[in-house]
Amino acid sequence: MLTEVLNWARFPRSKSLLIPVNSRQEEIPFRKFDGSFLPYGMGRSLGDSCLNDGNALLTTRGLSRIMAFDAATGRLTAEAGVTFDAIMRLSIPQGWFLPVTPGTRFVSLGGAVANDVHGKNHHCAGTFGCHVIRFELRRSDGSRMVCSPQENPEWFHATIGGLGLTGLIDWVEVQLKPIVNSLIDIETIRYGDVNEFYALSEESVSKYEYVAAWADTLSTRGLGRGLFFRGNHNQDPGRKTRKVPSGPYVSVPFVLPFSVFNQGTLKMFNSVFYSARPARKKAVGPLGPFFYPLDSLGAYHRIYGPGGMIQWQALIAPREAVREVLSASASLGGSFLTVMKVMGDLASPGLLSFSGSGATIALDFPYSQKVMDMLPRLDDIVAAAGGRLYPAKDARMSGTNFRKYFPQWQELERFIDPRFSSSFWRRVTAQ
Ligand SMILES: Cc1cc2nc3c(=O)[nH]c(=O)nc-3n(C[C@H](O)[C@H](O)[C@H](O)COP(=O)(O)OP(=O)(O)OC[C@H]3O[C@@H](n4cnc5c(N)ncnc54)[C@H](O)[C@@H]3O)c2cc1C
Repeated sequence: MLTEVLNWARFPRSKSLLIPVNSRQEEIPFRKFDGSFLPYGMGRSLGDSCLNDGNALLTTRGLSRIMAFDAATGRLTAEAGVTFDAIMRLSIPQGWFLPVTPGTRFVSLGGAVANDVHGKNHHCAGTFGCHVIRFELRRSDGSRMVCSPQENPEWFHATIGGLGLTGLIDWVEVQLKPIVNSLIDIETIRYGDVNEFYALSEESVSKYEYVAAWADTLSTRGLGRGLFFRGNHNQDPGRKTRKVPSGPYVSVPFVLPFSVFNQGTLKMFNSVFYSARPARKKAVGPLGPFFYPLDSLGAYHRIYGPGGMIQWQALIAPREAVREVLSASASLGGSFLTVMKVMGDLASPGLLSFSGSGATIALDFPYSQKVMDMLPRLDDIVAAAGGRLYPAKDARMSGTNFRKYFPQWQELERFIDPRFSSSFWRRVTAQ
């Protein structure tokens, strides 16, 4: 029976046969279903790369065992359904943190590898895949392969950022990073426009491990003005706190019948959010609100209304193209949440990995036909600038643009499991 399955954006809608995978030993019934299969972790992707409409999803929440953790070296081996939240519950009290983390801690290890996620420390730590030591890949013919830079290296390369298409990752071994305590020294700086964003980024990347900015896309006073956040792990051995991030504290209980975002509410929110901050503020705070501000409001995506949301995230090197995107997004009614970050040039081991040098800019819109009609303009700016869009956040880019953004896409095809597919892959590779 097909069941409705959602991604975090609640767009597009999709139905699949759900096949839970609860243990590494259990056989997957590939022969009992004629359609295709795709692993599904925590469904935190904001596009259709985690969906397989009309086909089967291998749900991995049951792969939830931490298999080994060495508190002396920080090496952790865990099943692929284990979440970053669960890892931190074990590791933080013992002085270890995730080497790279996205803006939510409710992602699975398998999902983090398959999208090769990045975080606020991309400029100095690269992607999550840079810290993966090895993993096991299970294929639909029953074979299993341990993959690392030394063992089956081409499969290691293809599976990191491989969008779940090369097989099911059963477990992952990863190197965590040591921390003195669970505090972050944070500095928040109000900046006036995109030029100041770049100046602050340049000044910060050598001194701060974590860097990101929130931008106001509707301000007429300075294009891309916003708040710049930078931080380092607190190094004071006298402060012993080892608190694990907690929450959500409140949750949006149901899908609102309309989106609360329109140009009026957005302008007001942005202006207050920007102006209410002092020009510069230093603080020492817990990890949770710094890394995972959105996790404190459960199911926050429901506020976008019944149509769901569209997130658009690009990687763009030329600064002029970033300015063009910011101007064009204002004509779309502004994005509710705009996040910008200058990335680093540490190469990812992933064949189809999104990240690379340049700036990444993420825009959030409530779903509307107007947004759907106008986003291709932004996609074209990215294509002309030699950039790319993030497949983990995409449900609508054209196949033509995808193939321009990722000219290496055909190399992945020879590693794709013949029984695996996804809504995303069928959409962007249809000629
Ligand atoms: C609030 C929020 C903030 C975010 N911030 C960031 C950010 O800062 N940086 C960033 O990079 N991303 C970010 N993301 C996106 C998110 O980190 C990724 O989409 C992540 O991959 C989701 O993991 P998941 O477990 O939910 O995977 P899913 O969404 O369920 O699946 C993602 C992909 O992984 C594959 N997959 C899952 N499990 C396995 C497995 N066991 N074996 C093989 N393939 C598998 C799926 O087939 C799919 O292709 C954010 C998302 C949200 C909701």
